[in-house]
Amino acid sequence: MTPEEFRKAGYEVVDWIADYLARTRDYPVLPDMSPGDLAARLPQSAPESGEPMERILDDYRKLVVPAVTHWNHPNFYAYFSVSGSPPGILGEMLAAALNVNGMLWKSCPAATELEQVTLGWLRQWMGLPEEFFGVIHDTASANTLHSIAAARELAEPEAHATGGSGRLTLYTSEQAHSSVEKGAIVAGIGQKNVRKIPVDDAFRLRADVLGKLIEEDLAAGKKPFCVVATAGTTSTTSVDPLEEMAGIAAQYGLWLHVDAAYGGPVSILPEFRRLFAGLERADSIVTNPHKWMFTPLDCSVLYTRRPDILKRAFSLVPEYLKTAEDSQAVNLMDYGVSLGRRFRALKLWFVMRYYGREGVCRILRQHIAWAQELRAAIQADPRFEICAPTPFSVVCFRLQASDAENQSLMDRVNRTGKIFMSHTALHGRIVLRLAIGNIGTTREDVMEAWELVRKTAG
Ligand SMILES: *Cc1c(COP(=O)(O)O)cnc(C)c1O
Repeated sequence: MTPEEFRKAGYEVVDWIADYLARTRDYPVLPDMSPGDLAARLPQSAPESGEPMERILDDYRKLVVPAVTHWNHPNFYAYFSVSGSPPGILGEMLAAALNVNGMLWKSCPAATELEQVTLGWLRQWMGLPEEFFGVIHDTASANTLHSIAAARELAEPEAHATGGSGRLTLYTSEQAHSSVEKGAIVAGIGQKNVRKIPVDDAFRLRADVLGKLIEEDLAAGKKPFCVVATAGTTSTTSVDPLEEMAGIAAQYGLWLHVDAAYGGPVSILPEFRRLFAGLERADSIVTNPHKWMFTPLDCSVLYTRRPDILKRAFSLVPEYLKTAEDSQAVNLMDYGVSLGRRFRALKLWFVMRYYGREGVCRILRQHIAWAQELRAAIQADPRFEICAPTPFSVVCFRLQASDAENQSLMDRVNRTGKIFMSHTALHGRIVLRLAIGNIGTTREDVMEAWELVRKTAG
C-alpha cells in the first residue's frame, strides 16, 4: 500500500469512525440476525489475488457492521456497559501504527515507561499506597490467574518446580466471577480446593463463615493460601467486606486478591472511598479501565505490592531475551503469562489526560446518580421489585411474575433494537440487570429505557 493510498483510505476510515461516534444511536443495539447469517454471506476462502481497499471497506460497511452488537451504543445496558471513548480510540489507532512489542524495556522503552507512569497516576487516583506496582494485561481473567499464581508461589515455592501439593485452598464468595475458579484450575490448585463462601442479604461474602472454614480446613490438613474478594460483583455489584477480609488474610498469612474489574474506578471518587476501605491492604488488585474507565478493549490493570513474588512466579528468561539493561530496567514480560505485549498504556494515557480526574469523576457520578433515579422509578411501580442494593450503576430488578415472564419481557425489549439488557440469577430466580456505563449515555436515555421496559411489560 502506498503512502498516498493509505492516506486516502485512512481519511475515509476516520470519517467513518467520526460519523459512527456521532450517530451510534441510529443503529439497533442488537443485530437482527440468526447464527450463521454473516458467515453465509462471506466467501469460503480468502482471495487468491489482492483486492482494492474500496471493496474491502464496502463489505465492512455492508456485511460486517450490520452483524455487530453495538457495545459503544449509549443504550447498551447489558453485562457491563463499556466505552471506546474518542481519545481512547485515537490512542488505539496510534498503538496499532507503532505496532511495538513491549515485552522488554529494550524492545520498546516508551511502552514500558509510559505503562509504569500511567499506572502510577491511576494508583494515585485510586488512593493506593506507593508500593503498588502496576502492569497491564488483556483481561481481568488473566490478571486474577496471575495473582493466584503469585499467591501459590509465596505459599508453596516448591510447587514451581514440582507442581502443587494438592492441599492449597482458596477462598472466595459464591458471587465471585467465574475467572477466580478458572484461575485456580489453571494454576493447578484444583476446582475442589476452591471454597465458595455464602453471602449476606446484600450479596457480600460472609467473613464469619470465611474464618470458620479456614479453621476447619487447617484442622483437616489443608493449606489455606489465598482469599479473593470482589469489589463490585458481576451479578449485583456488591462489595465484599474488604477490611474484615484483609484482617483474616493477615491473621492466617494468606494472599488477598481483590477483583475490582468493574468497581475499581469508583474508588477514585472520594465520597465512595469508605466502601473500598481495606483495598490498600490487598496483595494484588485487578481493575479494568476497559470496563468503566472509557478505554477501548482490552486494558486490564494488575496492581501488586509483591512484584518480587509475581516475578518469581513468571520470570523465565531465555538467552535470546537477555539485555544489557536487565539490572536497571523492568521487563514487563516477567510479570505474566504472555511474552508479547501490546502498547495498551497509550490509550489509557490518552483517556486519563483528556478527561482528567475531574472529568472521569463527573461521568462516574452521573452514571451512579442515574442508576439511583432508575432504581427509585422501578420501586415506584408496584408490578416490579428491586432485587439487590444498588451501590454503583447497575440496577437489578424483576417483574413480580414467573421467570418465563421475566425472560420474555427481556427478549421483547431487546428485540426492539432500542436497548440491550441482560439477566442474572439471584436466589434461584431470573433477575433483569440494567447496567449504566457508556460515556454517551444521558439521563434521558436511562429514563426512556425504563419507559420501554414498563410499556413492554404491558
Ligand atoms: C467483567 C469481570 C471480570 C472479567 O473481566 P475480563 O476482563 O473480561 O476477564 C472479572 N471479574 C469481575 C468482577 C467482572 O465484573
